[in-house]
Amino acid sequence: MRINPITARTNYYSSPAISKTKNEVTPEGRTDLVDLNHLNLTCNQSMVNFKATIDISRMLIKQIPLDDKLASLFQNFKLEDMILVGKNLHECAKEMYKSAGLVKNTIKRGFFIQDETLGGKLGFFKNSIGDTEVINLNDFELPLTSNTKTYPLKPHDSFYVIEDDIISINGNLLTIKEKPKTDLSMYRKNFAKAFDFEKEANKNIEKINKKTISQLMRTHQKTTTPVTFEQVGGLQELKTSLKKDVIYPIRYPEAYEGMELNHGFILYGPPGTGKTHIARALANEAGANFISLNGLDLESKWVGESEANWRNLFEEAKENQPTIIFVDEFDAVARKRDSRDVYGDKVVNQILTLMTDIDNENADVYVVAATNNYKALDSAITRSGRFGKHYEVTPPDKEGLREIFKINTKNRKVDENVDIEKMLDKLVEAKATGADMRHIVNEAHNNGFVRTGIFDKMENSKLTSLDISGFKIAQEDFDKALNDFLKDKKDTSRKPVGFIKNQTS
Ligand code: ADP
Repeated sequence: MRINPITARTNYYSSPAISKTKNEVTPEGRTDLVDLNHLNLTCNQSMVNFKATIDISRMLIKQIPLDDKLASLFQNFKLEDMILVGKNLHECAKEMYKSAGLVKNTIKRGFFIQDETLGGKLGFFKNSIGDTEVINLNDFELPLTSNTKTYPLKPHDSFYVIEDDIISINGNLLTIKEKPKTDLSMYRKNFAKAFDFEKEANKNIEKINKKTISQLMRTHQKTTTPVTFEQVGGLQELKTSLKKDVIYPIRYPEAYEGMELNHGFILYGPPGTGKTHIARALANEAGANFISLNGLDLESKWVGESEANWRNLFEEAKENQPTIIFVDEFDAVARKRDSRDVYGDKVVNQILTLMTDIDNENADVYVVAATNNYKALDSAITRSGRFGKHYEVTPPDKEGLREIFKINTKNRKVDENVDIEKMLDKLVEAKATGADMRHIVNEAHNNGFVRTGIFDKMENSKLTSLDISGFKIAQEDFDKALNDFLKDKKDTSRKPVGFIKNQTS
């Protein structure tokens, strides 16, 4: 073993940087330094003297002035580094914790120089423009002299430092140097403890970045106001089930640890009954990302690439979990096929494999598949446990319709004399859906604008704010909208494809 002598040792014992008299290097210290070469030799010859060499070198390290030790670390000081200086690491870290907000980047490496000569605690970091900043980790103010000016450095405040700045702590002076008097790089590990947090920091950075990106994704999707369960009329049982099956497991994962959860749902029923609406509300209530796809689009756009696209889709969902994938017109991708249609089977198998992965990994990814044509679904899908919960979504009953009416008129003025009971009865009889109710309210609103001449005024640029503030949707507006709807329904015989169960009201 070879211990290198510090060649310029004479510099150290002749000019200690901490220049307060009581901290000056002792005569004993000088003796140790002078003996270093001799000890090195002795060390190579005899094991007995080896321990003495370590002790002496420790003492020697003590003699290196703090500003040179610090300068040596500064030579290799990077953006994500932090240096703490003081008597006790725990105390320094505790104070630094209070000032952590001053450091605007992630700390990946920490260094600690134990020092008894300074009489205080300091932290150093590099700011985003590459300047070194010092943080006052003491509960008293420190004078920092730069050129001829002196600045007060308040407790837990930071200030950037340049070469030759002097920080005074209880009268002890620390000079900021860019280079030590001599090369100390070989001894850094003897006077500075190093801590590497890079792996952990990188993991956390990735986590935070993913969160930020998924927020971006959500912001991007929230072009319309988010839908809540309150804005879903009726469907009470479905809402309760989805809360238990999806929202609570996402919100309280600790309560579901080790449990095998169901990740696949099939909602079936006529168009306009709110399948998309409730899935959107589900994602919002669960605080999950919402990816909405249409099976028909997938089928036509992705022919030949379908399986890879499904894999990518699930990958994206897993990366941004919690995620709700909503697939409308699921029968287009997962429909029954005859044996010649190999392509379809492959896609169905791919979807089932991906669902199995989600189940095995217990990922916070839930797939809500909707169809108007339940019977057309491939039995490999409906029978598999991968889509374990099937819910029929029927047109609402009278109370459901009343709720949907209220939801749709919440931000509109409706004349207080409007009697909706008859309208609700007629709509129940016609098996009207939530989408139908929305349509009727919109139409009634338009009818009111025609009746009061508001559309004409808009056309002639004569509309005033009084016209709008005095406007209310009246009974006749609803009557006309309802009659038009019923007539239209009769004319076009709008019985939805795949409508299975008769409405019980
Ligand atoms: P589906 O997916 O079943 O075809 P949607 O969810 O697309 O039906 O419904 C279309 C629109 O009708 C929704 O955006 C919503 O405004 C309205 N709607 C349908 N069902 C409901 C409901 N139960 N509560 C409130 N609004 C509804």
